[in-house]
Amino acid sequence: MRCIRCKAPANVEVRRHRSAFCSGCYPGWFRNQVQRAIESEGMFGRDDKVLVAISGGKDSLALWHALLQLGYQADGMYIRLGIGNYSQHSQSASERFAAKHGLALHQVDLKEEYGFVVPQLRNQREGKPCAACGTVKRYHFNKVAVDLGYDVVATGHNLDDEAATLFGNVIHWQTDFLGRQGPVLASTHPKLARKVKPLFRLAERDTAAYAVIERIDYILEECPMAVGAKSLEYKDLLNALEERQPGLKQRFLVGFLRGGRKALAGRQEPALIRECRECGQPTTGEVCSYCRMRQRKRRQVESRMAARGS
Ligand code: SF4
Ligand SMILES: [Zn+2]
Ligand SMILES: [Zn+2]
Repeated sequence: MRCIRCKAPANVEVRRHRSAFCSGCYPGWFRNQVQRAIESEGMFGRDDKVLVAISGGKDSLALWHALLQLGYQADGMYIRLGIGNYSQHSQSASERFAAKHGLALHQVDLKEEYGFVVPQLRNQREGKPCAACGTVKRYHFNKVAVDLGYDVVATGHNLDDEAATLFGNVIHWQTDFLGRQGPVLASTHPKLARKVKPLFRLAERDTAAYAVIERIDYILEECPMAVGAKSLEYKDLLNALEERQPGLKQRFLVGFLRGGRKALAGRQEPALIRECRECGQPTTGEVCSYCRMRQRKRRQVESRMAARGS
């Protein structure tokens, strides 16, 4: 197998594009894909300030690296979720990357600043805190971006993530979610930052290859709460199909973005955004989901204490 650019022996194969690259040419191809995604979806421009959501894993660090190499103004943001060793290791990897490249990394510490950690938010039925963790991340990434004057929040969601989410939304016919799924979530309120996913054209293994070739020091460890998640089962299924039909994941996602999503989005009323009665952050209800989640947690703690006292 030869590199399609320079004909040297290839190190990375991208089967869905019927392409292969040597390690010298591959990073340029990867960054081109990121640039194409940014331009074709109108994600942001050279003058925009980008806040990258950092987890210490390959996707977020590869995204931050690629954006900087492409000449964008990109700072990072990390949330200390308080998930044991995983959080310690991911925080260190994020801080090491920022220090090595002399970059700004904003941080929010849930325990210190808000008095809780993500494992305390376990859903009683599923035994997992992932839905609440998603609320926490969306809330803080948005709040920091708006408070500090960033134009856009960029996350490291890749083709595999997006295809698995689409698959899950189709299986359960979540038409509301389907109508909103896409690489750009526009801002519909002055306190809502635009959200973008510049890696949506790149598969997980493409990002891993980029991180290895560019010597990005990321954590291999996955969050322990992810074990048994449905999204991982969907990824396994899609990977098995991709093995036999290279390009299937991309065709599934891109086909949806070009056709299906538009049909659904047109049928949905735009949600009315107002400010949360408790915290002033944007929400569609009276009280935002973050404040409601914290109120629920407080009530649980109070009833446990009352039960102990009785
Ligand atoms: S696996 Fe769940 S708990 Fe862990 S970081 Fe992801 S969403 Fe949060
Ligand atoms: Zn080459
Ligand atoms: Zn609120």
